[in-house]
Amino acid sequence: SFSAEKVPQAPEDPLFGLMAAYRKDTFDKKVDLGIGAYRDNNAKPWVLPVVKKADDRLRDDPNLNHEYLPIAGLAEFTSAAQKLILGVDSPAIKEKRACSLQTISGTGAVHLGALFLAKFYTRSQNQPVYFSNPTWANHNQIFANVGLPIQTYPYFSAKTKGLDFEGMKSTIQSATEGSIILLHACAHNPTGVDPTREQWKEIANIIREKKHFPFFDCAYQGFASGDLENDAWAIRYFVEQGFELCVAQSFAKNFGLYGERAGCFHFVTSPGSDAGNTISRIASQLAILQRSEISNPPAYGARIASTVLNDPALFAEWKENLKTMSGRIIQMRKDLKSKLEELGTPGTWNHITDQIGMFSFTGLTEKQVLKIREDAHVYMTKNGRISMAGLNTNNVDYVAKAIDKVVR
Ligand code: PMP
Repeated sequence: SFSAEKVPQAPEDPLFGLMAAYRKDTFDKKVDLGIGAYRDNNAKPWVLPVVKKADDRLRDDPNLNHEYLPIAGLAEFTSAAQKLILGVDSPAIKEKRACSLQTISGTGAVHLGALFLAKFYTRSQNQPVYFSNPTWANHNQIFANVGLPIQTYPYFSAKTKGLDFEGMKSTIQSATEGSIILLHACAHNPTGVDPTREQWKEIANIIREKKHFPFFDCAYQGFASGDLENDAWAIRYFVEQGFELCVAQSFAKNFGLYGERAGCFHFVTSPGSDAGNTISRIASQLAILQRSEISNPPAYGARIASTVLNDPALFAEWKENLKTMSGRIIQMRKDLKSKLEELGTPGTWNHITDQIGMFSFTGLTEKQVLKIREDAHVYMTKNGRISMAGLNTNNVDYVAKAIDKVVR
């Protein structure tokens, strides 16, 4: 029987714990490379100018109210989000075999997909979901909560600090037929390592051959390379290949709407004469799940994103804002790498510029991570992941010297 006293203490969330430790630190040169949120060159949060414009426009609208959104969310938002991720000319959109529901950011989209698959995905007996090793830590909790068995495929090579492509392929190849394969669409978290287009094609072939189900998590479209099409390439390729798949889409990073929780879940069925009916049945079940979980999604962030996505002038301005963020990060990668090379820091550092997106896996060991926190007040997660957005022209020198010191 339930006994309240027997509920064990849960560990603190490592990332949010790190944030708290950083905030408490009174050292003036402290550096936060932990949390994955964009910072400008002054280490401050950045409200995208285009988001500010959309926000002003909404606040000036005398008709704005605070009514509930529909269960599936704001229709102008979900249809624009669908075009953004699948492409305006997507065969899935033309053939009406995609459905989209607004979610509580990317986390909510991953959850809704996991819940749906736990209930309806019965392709083989007790088929597992496969994550990259490592992956975003929350994947484990979300899928464990809905009771799906979890497995991993190799992803990161400690030796090359790049993709362990052979390991990844052979594990996906030998996985139980019909497994769910979770893939990061771009800017893999935590490693910053993405497959090349040729490698994606090979991955797609294996997934097709083994009748696996691809589940894309896309948290960084446009934020990674600065190019919305480029960052959505893998998803669009799989759709063109006729896969049945789903996508969890976050607008936290690319709009800087972290706390507004704007996201979308998309399900795409494969082409076929009954695809339209199939997708409407799937949409009906997703709506029931959504209703029981959150009733309906939060409105304001979706309104901001929708205002930008549906206005050609604002959309063009958004693309510039994306270039500002991704460009600054790419520059910081170059600066950190060249400073480490100038210092003659032991090891090779080209992985810093080869990796992409918010994060870089430095290769620092847990011991070095703790030492750099202790000695230099530079905060990063224990696995040696740094958030590139925490670097700026004022601290990159300091961080490079601190890294140099701990690896010697
Ligand atoms: N998936 C991955 C891989 C992520 O990195 C993130 C952001 N940390 C998310 C999903 C979802 O984040 P959010 O719920 O803030 O959109």
